[in-house]
Amino acid sequence: MPVTLGVVNVYLIPSDDGLLLIDTGTSDDGAFHVLTQKLSALGHTVADIRRVLVTHYHPDHCGLAMRLQQAGAHIWMSRKDADVLVEYFANPQADVDRAQFFGRHPMPQKLSQRIGTMARLLRDLHAEFVPDALFDDGDMLGWGGISLEVVDTPGHTPGHVAFVSREHRVLFVGDHLLADQVAMLSAQDISPDTDALTQMFASLALMDRFVGFSGAAGHGPLIEDVAMRAQQTAGFHRARLQKVCDALLDEPQTALALSVRAFGEKRSAYSQWLSMTSAVSLLEYLHINQSAQRLTASDGSYLYRR
Ligand SMILES: [Zn+2]
Repeated sequence: MPVTLGVVNVYLIPSDDGLLLIDTGTSDDGAFHVLTQKLSALGHTVADIRRVLVTHYHPDHCGLAMRLQQAGAHIWMSRKDADVLVEYFANPQADVDRAQFFGRHPMPQKLSQRIGTMARLLRDLHAEFVPDALFDDGDMLGWGGISLEVVDTPGHTPGHVAFVSREHRVLFVGDHLLADQVAMLSAQDISPDTDALTQMFASLALMDRFVGFSGAAGHGPLIEDVAMRAQQTAGFHRARLQKVCDALLDEPQTALALSVRAFGEKRSAYSQWLSMTSAVSLLEYLHINQSAQRLTASDGSYLYRR
């Protein structure tokens, strides 16, 4: 990954009906090379991958889907994130202005230009594909002795899912939970009646069902206990929420100004973008729960006050 996350984990599961891969890595040649090398060390080629399950639509998780599909694999993903992808590939211009989201949240032109550049970079790590099959919450997927249950875990993306193996007491959690960090909240699904943090809190609470299950995450080491890690993650979000709440003033402020008040000035445009995206998610949560007022300026942009 060219930006902060470094290494992406993908999971290969042998079955009596060919190989199953959970997530893919980015669409670039480097990632494809690593994947083919690792497969060959196990005595396989990409053509042995019969199915690919995708946890969410981000490029590091399904960027290689198209190439694997061309090599013969069937790609499965959630209906909701498949819809997000259709929209994403239909609107390359959205990288430049991020109109649905940032059009509402004023920022200096220099910052928005750098975010646009970064968004285009991320787009280069993706490759358009049409999934062969879609799944929904609660679906049981099974092939050649493997059985995985789909659990919707929205928050990081609108259609993020985890795959549960009850037999092996493990969840493939994508970016829903990470052992040593907390993935960003979705910037995709902010609307008057839903917000990413409400979804995330609900998805984290679901993990109480899986006490003692380990978590195979999209980045970083194995999670020992998903229920415990979910509680820690909820605590992290509550602490950030408090910071944003404390940053609110009587005077209306932009999300950018409030993100700086709450989390400090960031060195890189990418970090500033993450910080502001996070602040917007938290502000929308506060707004929906009537702990912040959201005002619409004459140019349509949003300002927040206590
Ligand atoms: Zn992700």
